Amino acid sequence: MAIEQTLVLIKPDGFKRGLTGLVIDRLDQAGLELIGAKMVGVTEKLAKEHYKDLADKPFFPNLIRYIRGEFHDLKANQVLALVYQGEGAIALTRKVAGATNPEQADPHSIRGSFGRVTTQGQFENVLHASGNAADAEREVKLWFKPEELVSAARAATNGKH
Ligand code: UDP
Ligand code: MG
Repeated sequence: MAIEQTLVLIKPDGFKRGLTGLVIDRLDQAGLELIGAKMVGVTEKLAKEHYKDLADKPFFPNLIRYIRGEFHDLKANQVLALVYQGEGAIALTRKVAGATNPEQADPHSIRGSFGRVTTQGQFENVLHASGNAADAEREVKLWFKPEELVSAARAATNGKH
């Protein structure tokens, strides 16, 4: 299997409910390597670009509000954005995360344990994880500059001064 990079976001419900450490721990335990991490204030533009493939879905307007922290009183619209690397990292991260609908997710997965469906029908599912190789590549580029990711090539250069 190929070495892949994948994007994870700790969504506002995960952040507000103190699940950041748990998500990082589960991904650590799965053997994934963390190569990028930063807090990001999610603008409407970034949210819409990130979820552009879902723009025609009925839940899209509330999804944009959700990822911007409007349902969780996050006044800086912040999420924690992470990049993980490893063999088969995309599918492995999705497995640790669990199915999109928390009610259908494996109860041992993060979403199965800690996600919920709101009375309005919104899936609050703790984290985002890239869905496939094309999405992962697009999303890592959208959220991170190349120099924000750990790279062995750059570490070698830095070591010279
Ligand atoms: N979502 C929702 N209702 C739905 C489908 C999706 O609220 O019927 C939300 C949910 O938060 C999900 C996000 O929209 O994580 C993106 O949807 P996608 O189908 O890409 O699921 P994911 O890749 O996050 O598992
Ligand atoms: Mg998706």
